[in-house]
Amino acid sequence: MSIQEDIRRLEELDKRYIWHPFTQMRDWLLEKPVIITEGRDCFLKDIYGRWYLDGVSSIWVNVFGHKKKEIDRAIKRQLARIAHSTLLGLSNVPAVNLAEKLVKLVQGSLFHKSKFQNPDSKIEKKDLKLKIQNMKQLSKVFYSDNGSTAVEVALKMAFQYWKHKGIRGRKAFISLGNAYHGDTIGAVSVGGIDMFHKAFGPLLFKTYRTPSPYCYRCELGRDYPDCNIACLGRMERILKAHAHEIAALIIEPLMQSAGGMIASPPGYLRGTRDLCNKYNILMIADEVATGFGKTGKMFACEHEGVDPDLLCLSKGITGGYMPLAATLTTEEVYSAFLGEFKDLKTFFHGHSYTGNPLACAAALAALELFEKERILERLTGKIAFLDSWLKDILNLRHVGDVRNAGFMAGVELVRDKKTKEPYEWTEKIGWRVALHAREKGVIIRPLGNVIVIMPPLSISDQNLERLLKVLKQSIISVTRGKK
Ligand code: PMP
Repeated sequence: MSIQEDIRRLEELDKRYIWHPFTQMRDWLLEKPVIITEGRDCFLKDIYGRWYLDGVSSIWVNVFGHKKKEIDRAIKRQLARIAHSTLLGLSNVPAVNLAEKLVKLVQGSLFHKSKFQNPDSKIEKKDLKLKIQNMKQLSKVFYSDNGSTAVEVALKMAFQYWKHKGIRGRKAFISLGNAYHGDTIGAVSVGGIDMFHKAFGPLLFKTYRTPSPYCYRCELGRDYPDCNIACLGRMERILKAHAHEIAALIIEPLMQSAGGMIASPPGYLRGTRDLCNKYNILMIADEVATGFGKTGKMFACEHEGVDPDLLCLSKGITGGYMPLAATLTTEEVYSAFLGEFKDLKTFFHGHSYTGNPLACAAALAALELFEKERILERLTGKIAFLDSWLKDILNLRHVGDVRNAGFMAGVELVRDKKTKEPYEWTEKIGWRVALHAREKGVIIRPLGNVIVIMPPLSISDQNLERLLKVLKQSIISVTRGKK
C-alpha cells in the first residue's frame, strides 16, 4: 500500500469507527481529521508529516514535552518487569513508591504547620494541636485512572465519612456555577456548565450551587475589589441554611478551567476554606487541571495557604504520558473507614487499572523531572512573558477579557467590548480562531468564546512567543478587529 493510500485508509476508518469525545460527529464527518503519528518536545506530527505546536499540552496533560527520554526510559524499565497487576488484594512497587512521594510532596507543599503551633501554649495543649494537625494532613493515597474518577472517589469518600461518623443527613454537596469536575455521573452532579450537564439533570444528586467568581461577568452585578468578594457572602448564605445536609464543598482552586478559564480573585480560595471550617463541611480541592505546576506552584492551593480535606490529582501527574489519578485524603477521613470487617465500613470502590505500575513508574519519573529540570523556577520568567502578551492581546477590539493563573490562560472574545455582548455560541468564533491557528501550525482548543492557552510547562521562550504571535494574528484575522 502506498503512503497516500494508507493516509486515505486511516482517514476513512477514523470516520467509520471512532466516536470522538465532546464532538458533534456530523461536523467531524465533513472535515479532514488531523491524525497524529508522533510527537517531539512541544510538537505533534500528523500523517502528512506536518508539525504543529501543541498549544494545549494535549488537553492540559503534557508537562515536559513529548518523547521525554527520562519518562520513556522509566516506562521501558517497568515494562521489562511487569505492565500491570491489580491493587485489589495485592500491591506493586511503583504504586508504593509513588504514594510515598505524593504524600511527601503535598505535605511539603501544602501543609502549613505554623497555623497550629503556638509557642506560648502549654505542652499538653501543643501535643493536642499537633495530633489534630496530623489528622488533618493529607496522608493517604487512593489511586484511580482519570480526573473524573479522582473526583468520584472524593465525593463518595466525603459522603461515607459522615455516615461512618454516625452523622446523618449529609447527602448533598456544594459546588460553583461554571464548575467542571469530569463526566461521570457524580462529577456531573457537581458540575455547573449547563451546555454539558443540563441534559443529565434527572440522573443527578442534590448539589447547591454558589455563584462562580467570574468577575468579568459577575452574577451579582458587582465589581472587584469594591465588592469585597460578595460571592463568598452568597456561599455563606447557602452554608448557613444547609450545612447540616452538606457532605463537602468541591472547588477548582484558583482557576475554573473548562467553565471558561475563570480565575478567582485573590482571597476567594482562602475564604472558601474558612467557610468550610466555620460550617464544618469537608473541602475537596479538584486540582486535576491546576495541579503539577500549571499555576506557577506545584498545587494551586499553595497560593493561598489552603489545606483541603481531599485533593484530586490527575492529568500532569504522569507528565502527560499515561492515564493515572490519585485522590489524597487525611488520617481523619481515612480512619473513619476503619472497623471490623462485619461493620461494612470498607470503601467499596476500585478500578481494574487502579495503581497501574507503568503509569506509576511514569509518574515517579515525572516528579523527579520537576526537581531535576527546576521546572517551577524556570516557569516564573515564562509566566511574566505570558502576562505581558495577554495585556497586549487585551487591546484588541474583540477581546473582552484575559485571565490567567500562572501558565493557564484564557482570552474571552466578545462582539462588543463596551457592552460585553458575547458572540452567539452558534457562531463558533472560538473554533474559527482555533482552525486559523491550526493552518499556521499551532493546535489550540477553545471553550466556546474563550481561547485557551496551556502549553507544556517546558516550552521554550521562542516557541511560547510563536504560540502567542499566532494566537494574536488568528484573533485579528477571524474577528477582523485590531484595535
Ligand atoms: N476536573 C477538572 C478540574 C478538569 O479540568 C477535568 C478535565 N478537564 C476533570 C476533572 C476530568 O478529568 P478527566 O477528563 O481525566 O476525566
